[in-house]
Amino acid sequence: MSTFRLEIVTPERKVYEKDVNMVVVKGVAGELGILPHHIPLVTPLKVAPVKAKIDNKEEFIAVHGGFMEVRKDKVVILAEAAELGADIDVSRARLAKERAERRLAQKQADINHQRAEMALQRAISRLESVGDNKE
Ligand code: ATP
Repeated sequence: MSTFRLEIVTPERKVYEKDVNMVVVKGVAGELGILPHHIPLVTPLKVAPVKAKIDNKEEFIAVHGGFMEVRKDKVVILAEAAELGADIDVSRARLAKERAERRLAQKQADINHQRAEMALQRAISRLESVGDNKE
């Protein structure tokens, strides 16, 4: 099965660098599956898990927005933050989810709802990446 290089980079570090058979991302216009030799493109990404397929394995990386650039020689995802499943602190993400939900349930004008909504999405995406997305 042919492969291409997938890199996931944040301002702090290279989170992921592997040869993969396919990558599935959630772009702003919907889900996008990239196979080897895909035409070059750039798309903004939603806060959602990225799925990398290698042989018969699937790996999930929590990617918090950013962009995907499909180049001739590789695919590069640039994000503000990203974590491999193994690096995700599940209890921290659960606490962040509860905190954001509490904030969103409050009606005061001084609560920044957009910020709480983004924090909620990051927490949900982290939990989904480790298969812990039960209510
Ligand atoms: P929290 O409220 O728990 O800090 P957050 O969504 O506000 O969560 P971010 O601002 O997205 O956190 O990330 C700050 C840094 O902490 C980043 O380097 C990110 O990778 C890391 N990080 C945040 N939450 C987790 C987690 N649950 N497990 C592992 N790393 C995390």
